Amino acid sequence: MTRHDDRAHENRFKTLAVGSAENATHPNEGGTSDVIPPVHLSSTFEWASGDDGNEHDYSRESNPTRAALEGQLARLEGGEHGLAFASGMAAISTTMLSLVPPGGHLVSSDSIYSGTEKLLTEFIAGHFGVNVEFVDAHNPENVAATVDSDTDLVWTETPTNPLMRLCDIRSIANIADDHGIPFGVDSTFASPYFQAPLELGADIVVHSTTKYLNGHSDSIGGAIVTDDDEVFENLAFSQRIGLGNMLSPFDCYLVARGIKTLPARMEQHEENAMAVARLLEDHDHIARVYYPGLESHPQHDLAVEQMSGYSGMLSFEFDGSLTETEAFVKGLNVFTPGASLGGVESLVEVPSLMIPDEVSHGSDTADIPETLVRLSVGIEGVDDLREDLRTALP
Ligand code: PLP
Repeated sequence: MTRHDDRAHENRFKTLAVGSAENATHPNEGGTSDVIPPVHLSSTFEWASGDDGNEHDYSRESNPTRAALEGQLARLEGGEHGLAFASGMAAISTTMLSLVPPGGHLVSSDSIYSGTEKLLTEFIAGHFGVNVEFVDAHNPENVAATVDSDTDLVWTETPTNPLMRLCDIRSIANIADDHGIPFGVDSTFASPYFQAPLELGADIVVHSTTKYLNGHSDSIGGAIVTDDDEVFENLAFSQRIGLGNMLSPFDCYLVARGIKTLPARMEQHEENAMAVARLLEDHDHIARVYYPGLESHPQHDLAVEQMSGYSGMLSFEFDGSLTETEAFVKGLNVFTPGASLGGVESLVEVPSLMIPDEVSHGSDTADIPETLVRLSVGIEGVDDLREDLRTALP
């Protein structure tokens, strides 16, 4: 059975997301019977000794609102421990800095978010002397050929930003496992609703909560979930004692609120994205569509196997000049041109026009066509989305 057919999982996830299970297992202790965890803004908590001691004493180290979100994140990913960070990049950099010593060895997929690629080349390799090796991880054999017993971390992202390539999480997890190396997956594009890397054998799953988890484009944040106690101790120590890059209580509240509707939003994102992908696939001025849900996607079979849905992100190559691509974007009304993704509203981005620096630094630069258009398909009426694209296309 693929995750696609797993109705029991889907059902359980929806209940976990709303939080009923959380309330049942953690009855409100404050006596005010809140249905949602309250926002605790206090930076410090009254000290008491012995059995009367407080669970929280200083909010950098732990905070009740953050602890509630971290528990919610861990339950959604099926992991033991969750950590909430000030951004997706804070979560990723903390993983690298905590698990890879200066001069260590890190093997990363060569198809990753440009910010992660810059972190790896300019900071992790540049400042800390780590030997960062980029491999084409879409073929797990390339990972197997590059890791050895001295490797400290294996890193991938799937689906990737912006080319929607996939990595075979289970195969790479087996390779990392054979060498006893922690394996981290950036699962931002799938969200926990459509992909469960820990179930497939990964040790660490990372999200930019800025995207689908919060889902309303009003908070920057990141998350890590792991089921490895040692990895967790390491990451928590780095975050709470060394780096201090945790998510604020109010942002924790926003993300926790967003999570309650994650399943409903993801279903709608996917339905709309599939309809848009099919429209684009049939259009004369589109050279190629990249969406894991389409049978034409070269890794569609892997998507069916390891994802339970295909999310709302897709890219396509406009068949024309860059000037014509820009005219197309200007002709859109419902899709707003802008960076980021995963919010309820539809966004359009042309990397070569809007983030040229990032494209020219990307590790798979050569692969990002000049007229590549990335869509974050929102949850608006699908007919309006289709009409907007039809009108703007030549
Ligand atoms: N991972 C992926 C796949 C992303 O697309 C992004 C941002 O676009 C990040 C991580 C970084 O997240 P943040 O902007 O929250 O730091």
